[in-house]
Amino acid sequence: MKFSENSDQAADYLRQAVPAMVKYAIVPNPLNYTLWYSYYSKAFPTLNKELDHVIERYGTCPLDVGEALFIQHITQLNKGSEKQLESFHKAFFHIVDNLSVSLDNTAKETTGYSQALMQNLTVLGTHEVDAAMIPVVERLNENANAICLANEEFQGKLVAAQTEISMLKAELEQSKKEANTDSLTGLSNRRVLESIYHQFVEEHGDSDELALIIMDIDKFKLFNDTHGHLLGDQILKFVGQLLRKECKEPLVPVRFGGEEFALLCPRYSLEKSQQLAEKIRVKLSSVAFNNKRTGDKIPPITASFGVTLKKHGDILNNVIERADQALYAAKSAGRNQVVLAN
Ligand code: GH3
Ligand code: MG
Ligand code: MG
Repeated sequence: MKFSENSDQAADYLRQAVPAMVKYAIVPNPLNYTLWYSYYSKAFPTLNKELDHVIERYGTCPLDVGEALFIQHITQLNKGSEKQLESFHKAFFHIVDNLSVSLDNTAKETTGYSQALMQNLTVLGTHEVDAAMIPVVERLNENANAICLANEEFQGKLVAAQTEISMLKAELEQSKKEANTDSLTGLSNRRVLESIYHQFVEEHGDSDELALIIMDIDKFKLFNDTHGHLLGDQILKFVGQLLRKECKEPLVPVRFGGEEFALLCPRYSLEKSQQLAEKIRVKLSSVAFNNKRTGDKIPPITASFGVTLKKHGDILNNVIERADQALYAAKSAGRNQVVLAN
C-alpha cells in the first residue's frame, strides 16, 4: 500500500478522479473513490491496466468488478502483516481526509464552470444572432442545463458518499480498537506491545533505554481449580484495573496471554523498571479478596516478575525471551518476587 502524497497532490488526483467517475457513471461510494483515486495516483500500475480494460469493454466499471479490483490491487496485504495493515488504515484515513476537502473544492469548481457557461449563453441571448445560429445557441443552452442538472445530482450523491465515508471511518476506527483490545480485561493486547516496540526502535534506535516487564500470576491454575474459572476471570479483570492505575501514560500495560501481562517502559532504566514492578507486586499481594458467593476469604493473589532492558541489535523476541528467563527464575526462587535479567 503506498499513498504518501501530500494534500495538494492528493487533491489533484481526486480532481481527475471525480470527472472520470461522472463520465463513466461510477457510483460515488468510498470504495470507488479509493479505486479511482488510486488510478490517477498510479500507485498500482496493474490496476490501471485492468481498469482501462474494463472501461473499454463496459463503458463503465460495474460495482462487483470495482470491488474485485479494489480487493485484488489495493487491499493486497500479506496475511498477518501488521505493519501493512496499519499502513493501509493510515493511507485510507489519509485519502478519506483529503476526500472531504477536495470533494468540496471540486464541487465548487464544477458549479463555477456551469454557471459561467450559463451566464455567457445569457449574454449571447441578448445579442442579435444569425438565424442559422439560433438552433446552435439553443442546443448549447440545453447542454448547459443538462450539465447543471447532472452536476447537482452528482453533488447530492457526493454528500451521501461523504456521510458514508464518515461512517466507514468510524467503523474502521472501532474495529481497529477492538482488534487491539483484550475483551476480558479491556487492556491492550500483544499487537499493541509489538507496535510500541517497533515504533520506539524506529524513533530512538539504541539512543534511549527501553525496559520490558513481564508479570505472571502465581499458581493461577490452582486458583481456578479451587474457586472456579468465573472468579478467576474477575481476578484477571482486577489485575487489569490495577495495571491501568499504576501505569500512567505513556506506559501501556498489555495482557500478554492467559494470566500473563507485559509492560514496555520507554526511557526506563533497569532500576526504575524494577521499582515499578516491585510497586505492582506489593499492591497486588496486599489486596484482600473475598469470594462473594461463599463469603470465604481468599488467600492473597501474588505474581512473579521478569525485567530486562533491550540490548543493541535485539529484536522484540530476544527481549521477551530474556524477560521470560528472569520470570522463570522468579518462579523457581519461590514466586511473588521481581527478578532482573543479566
Ligand atoms: P505458575 O505460578 O507457575 O505461573 O502457575 P500457574 O498455575 O499460574 O501456571 P500454569 O501455566 O500452569 O496455568 C495458568 C492458568 O491460567 C491455567 C489457566 O486456566 C489460567 N488462565 C489462563 N487464561 C485464563 C482466563 O482467561 N481466565 C481464567 N479464569 N483463567 C485463565
Ligand atoms: Mg503463565
Ligand atoms: Mg502463572
